[in-house]
Amino acid sequence: MTVTGELLKRNRAHADRHPGRASSMVPLLQTVLVTCCDHRVDPAHVLGLRLDEAVVIRNEGGRVTPDVIRTLTTLATVALVENLDLDVEIVVMHHTDCGTSRLARPEHAALAAQIFGVGENEVEAKHLADPVAAVRADLRLLRNTPLIPTDMRLAGLVYDVETGAVDHVEEE
Ligand SMILES: [Zn+2]
Repeated sequence: MTVTGELLKRNRAHADRHPGRASSMVPLLQTVLVTCCDHRVDPAHVLGLRLDEAVVIRNEGGRVTPDVIRTLTTLATVALVENLDLDVEIVVMHHTDCGTSRLARPEHAALAAQIFGVGENEVEAKHLADPVAAVRADLRLLRNTPLIPTDMRLAGLVYDVETGAVDHVEEE
């Protein structure tokens, strides 16, 4: 069986359990989670996130990039258009042994700058080899984004791929 065949088989089991109606556009936990696309970091497993609970944005490293800011802006716009009264928390979760840490060396600065949408001179401040510092840098970036309300609840997490444990990272 191909991978797609296997996935379709698993989907049939999901569809059999589905209530047969769409749930609310508002996620149950009113949470947007930004995390890495790494296969070891799937929040459904790592955080026990269930269907309908959170909007999940995944990219290389789980970084707050211009693309992520644009997505957050779109989500906020939809909420405004739909007149939704929300109390959203944004959670940024990075992890140990991230593939993006391999781009931390100065010779990869141009590539890293392109991936993360920053200037080459800003790559060092992304802290690619230090997930705790990287989470703090991204929380700071969100705090300094004009479109994010100043009282927005933000949280930082680092997942350890060796132990399976998540640590809470305080904002600085
Ligand atoms: Zn990663």
